Amino acid sequence: MSISNGVVAFGRETICYEVQFFTTRRTLGIEVHPNLRVLVRAPTDCDPSVIVAKVQQRAPWISKQLAAFQRFSPRTPPRQFVSGETHLYLGRQYRLKVSEGAVSSVKMRRGQLIVSTRSKAQPEQVKATLQRWYRQRAREVFGEVLDACFKPFAQRGHTHPRLAVKSMHTRWGSLSSSELITLNGNLIRAPKGCIEYVVVHELCHLEHKNHGPKFYRLLEQLMPDWVKRKRKLEEVLL
Ligand SMILES: [Zn+2]
Repeated sequence: MSISNGVVAFGRETICYEVQFFTTRRTLGIEVHPNLRVLVRAPTDCDPSVIVAKVQQRAPWISKQLAAFQRFSPRTPPRQFVSGETHLYLGRQYRLKVSEGAVSSVKMRRGQLIVSTRSKAQPEQVKATLQRWYRQRAREVFGEVLDACFKPFAQRGHTHPRLAVKSMHTRWGSLSSSELITLNGNLIRAPKGCIEYVVVHELCHLEHKNHGPKFYRLLEQLMPDWVKRKRKLEEVLL
């Protein structure tokens, strides 16, 4: 049994799927799993073009299934910003510790995020202090990731885009014109490998505006394990 991955575009969506080949199968089967995995079971001698065509044909159904699972997937409960609850930073869980201090600050120590506020800590103050810290960290970390990921694009003759960090509800990043890359501030909660995936994806749009085969060829060439990183991101932050 061998495994391969593929991608088809459906409207503005990208459907990533995994193919498993079975010597005992005679027909193609598509499954959508609650963890948002799309699995195609295929006979060993099945032609790749037949698989792509089948996934394309079933894309409306796959998309509907994925949307349903996304709606029902257990999300992290709303944060209360009190001591003891966990918060994510670069893919790691940190336990929040609220304390009083001379200045508002956030420190990381041995798996803890220690938030100090001047007056007796109210959850709203803790939230504001923590959000400010997340934004600062996001700007710094995303800037470093962008500089590192831009190197192959510099060699290809592109100009380094400016960076903006925003809170966005529906997307991880975007590239407007070729001068500005906007990243979702929430990404600071994801592992660095996932942030790199979003940045490289957006940078590939410097060369190809749409998600056509050329776009994916470039992405695949620059980041062969991008599907794994994308899945991880969805697993951590969806
Ligand atoms: Zn894109």
